[in-house]
Amino acid sequence: MSDRISDDTGRASGDEEPTPEERPTPRVALVSGGSRGIGRATVLRLARDGLDVAFCHRSSPDAARELEEEAARLGGGRVLGRQTDVRDAGAVRELVAFAEESLGPVEVAVTSAGITRDNPLLLMTDEEWHGVLEVNLDGTYHLCRSVVFGMMKRKSGCVINISSVAGVHGNATQSNYAASKAGIIGFTKSLAKEVGRYGIRANVVAPGFVETDMTAELSDRVRKEAEQSIPLRRFGRPEEVADMVAYLVGADYVTGAVFQVDGGIVL
Ligand code: NAP
Repeated sequence: MSDRISDDTGRASGDEEPTPEERPTPRVALVSGGSRGIGRATVLRLARDGLDVAFCHRSSPDAARELEEEAARLGGGRVLGRQTDVRDAGAVRELVAFAEESLGPVEVAVTSAGITRDNPLLLMTDEEWHGVLEVNLDGTYHLCRSVVFGMMKRKSGCVINISSVAGVHGNATQSNYAASKAGIIGFTKSLAKEVGRYGIRANVVAPGFVETDMTAELSDRVRKEAEQSIPLRRFGRPEEVADMVAYLVGADYVTGAVFQVDGGIVL
């Protein structure tokens, strides 16, 4: 692979990477699952930090439009949404092309699109298993695969994949979800090792319970039990996860790491 990249850039693969001073401040970000929850908070945060942000959703055109309008009201970077199912590799490639034609080269990629389909393993259907793996893990692969070559050519890039504490510790009734989120961690660490020499960083944010539509489905009993297992005794806010994403965008010497944003939860 290094040969292909060397040919394309005209640099030998052993060339020194640009120093942080030479590397431009990121200008364009792409966020999957930006219409709601953590992805939405991330879009607003990065736009507030001055980046132009493209985002995708699966089926929330109204929420997407509302987010574009809110971002425009707040000022900061431009925000553009597009319907894209992250399970579809071709559609994700088109999303990246759309972002690059509209805003410029994607320098920051955040994968937040994700779903749960909880069930004890004995009751789990093949559809629940594959459905979660396809959105959470395949979707992450599709987006990273689509942006990384451009980042390698430019010798600069930042990938932030949203996993979960369930991927670190496991969680009963979430074997499908935990497998997808643990997969994201192994995937991201491998990517960090592959592409670090091209000036690309890849990190994981692993939230605990966060107040979004995803956790709104929890019963009162489960919610109470969860809060008891959190030393800070509350669920996190999407903006608190977005804070970590924003930190990582500027953290030039951090790669291959997993950052839990979880109130100290013990699963
Ligand atoms: P959420 O509020 O349910 O939002 C999910 C987002 O993903 C929506 O924008 C949704 O788009 C998008 N999405 C789902 N399937 C998609 C697909 N096939 N293609 C494209 N987009 C798709 O979820 P959230 O709570 O913000 O979670 C965001 C990420 O954080 C997920 O990866 C989740 O696993 C992770 N996480 C969440 C928590 C938590 O407590 N909330 C904890 C740990 C980790 P539509 O609006 O079109 O459906």
